[in-house]
Amino acid sequence: MDKEKIDSNIKSTRRDFLKVTGGTIAAAGIAANGFLLRGSEAWAEEKPETWNEEVDVLIVGSGFAGLAAAAEAAGRGSKTLILDKMPTYGGNSIINGGEYASWDDEFSLRKKLNLGDDTSKLHMTDTIKGGDFYNIPALVQVMVDGAPSALNWMIDEGGLKIRELVNRAGGHSAYRTRTCTDGIGRGYTEALRKIAESKGTEIRLGTKVTRIWRQGLEGPVLGLAVENRKGRQNIRIRKALVLASGGFGYDVKMRQDFNPIVTPDINCTNHKGATGEMIRYAQAIGADTLHLAFVQLYPFAEPETGILDTPAVYPFRGPGFGMVYVDRNGKRYVSELERRDVCARAATATGSKPTFSVFSEKMIPLMGTKEEVKKGIAKGRFMTAMTIADLAKEMDVPGSHLKDTISRHNQYLADKKDPEFNKPVTAMMVPMTEGPFYAVAQWPAVHHTMGGLRINESAQVIDIWGKPIPHLYAAGEITGGVHGSNRLGSNATPDCIVFGRIAGTNAAKEKA
Ligand SMILES: Cc1cc2nc3c(=O)[nH]c(=O)nc-3n(C[C@H](O)[C@H](O)[C@H](O)COP(=O)(O)OP(=O)(O)OC[C@H]3O[C@@H](n4cnc5c(N)ncnc54)[C@H](O)[C@@H]3O)c2cc1C
Repeated sequence: MDKEKIDSNIKSTRRDFLKVTGGTIAAAGIAANGFLLRGSEAWAEEKPETWNEEVDVLIVGSGFAGLAAAAEAAGRGSKTLILDKMPTYGGNSIINGGEYASWDDEFSLRKKLNLGDDTSKLHMTDTIKGGDFYNIPALVQVMVDGAPSALNWMIDEGGLKIRELVNRAGGHSAYRTRTCTDGIGRGYTEALRKIAESKGTEIRLGTKVTRIWRQGLEGPVLGLAVENRKGRQNIRIRKALVLASGGFGYDVKMRQDFNPIVTPDINCTNHKGATGEMIRYAQAIGADTLHLAFVQLYPFAEPETGILDTPAVYPFRGPGFGMVYVDRNGKRYVSELERRDVCARAATATGSKPTFSVFSEKMIPLMGTKEEVKKGIAKGRFMTAMTIADLAKEMDVPGSHLKDTISRHNQYLADKKDPEFNKPVTAMMVPMTEGPFYAVAQWPAVHHTMGGLRINESAQVIDIWGKPIPHLYAAGEITGGVHGSNRLGSNATPDCIVFGRIAGTNAAKEKA
């Protein structure tokens, strides 16, 4: 079919569609995505009676993506307002594990620490392989290319501090993950907040967005309806709206609508506000979505509560340094350098909760700090003993099995070959020959939603007919396509920040 014919077909489909739906955009969401909008979320096109306030750039969400967008928009002279429904700022970002994947940084840490080579191409290949090739390559390219400069920007302008270590996490084939000094996402959110506020951004908390106003099916986005202590208000945009409201890991119904096997009994690492209403509101004005069934489990959360606290980040940081995962029988059950989905499935297949990560004193400075481990022991999260046999008692696993597992793994490191699980053995992996030894219990919990709004490389939100929705941008976990079926650990932080910066930059460039 030639292009003219295709265009005319699209136009007539759109006309018929409007006739059938009486012009309500909400139904478009149903038709395109098979996803039923909930009652009041199905909106006809209409304008609010009054606008209570007007800003240039309006941003929903005060996590990595929203703060980065605000920093760029406000830095370009736009009056910028961030809204967040929670009483504190930061969403999942502020509680994040502090891990940032980047093939380089301004200190050339990887080179300095003699950790081998890395390139943007390798980071891209790993990300696409890790996502089973569902990823949109152009978006991955933007993320990996922008990761080093976004990290350097936060260091230079936001006062971010990073540790002098680089780890190799599951699914990555190079040592490329940086950790901020705080060891928690707050390090990045504070740096971003500092930049954003210094440029004049206002962050308004306790303000829930309840709908998006758009002028007709093909017109621009106009603003938002919000609810807070003052009641219901409407905020109008002069330039653009940026959606940076995160994922839907905490929304049990929504995640199960798309992926029935993620059942309500599975714990969750997310903050309570990680519910997906903004995705539905965007669908209600015609936005397209993708990959909503791809829900990731973090394999190493605290087994009873699902919390991802500092001890739960160690199993993520350790594989490149020789950490060993064992089941309740004291035996390895997976290659420790495997991707998260593989590790989570293998843990579940052991059939008995929890599994454990085992490491030794020598590995601590490579992964974290002695203070973190000391605090983790005081909280009862890390177990420790001078011998493997005594550690096994603490873990309540058979001592003979654990001793055999560790000594065999030591031999694999010496042989540079892991015949059991084919783990790639590197020179940075430390054999566990000397105590004290440590262990931490772990179990999978819902962690990341890879799917979301469809965007292009400029962070514009694309509608169900493949066109950018005028004056609407999105960045961060609300979007889909960067990570494919499975996000590699530490890729979300650069994804949110790089695309947040792009969204904010382009939002500020819109004509008022
Ligand atoms: C515990 C934990 C640890 C993690 N560790 C890492 C890590 O070390 N490295 C890594 O790469 N990734 C990590 N991730 C993933 C990563 O942190 C998230 O993908 C990222 O923080 C999402 O950022 P965001 O800006 O898109 O959304 P968020 O940071 O979640 O911010 C979205 C904000 O939008 C607000 N919001 C939502 N709906 C509305 C509404 N209707 N009205 C107003 N406000 C609304 C929310 O309240 C929230 O504050 C981790 C995730 C978790 C949960």
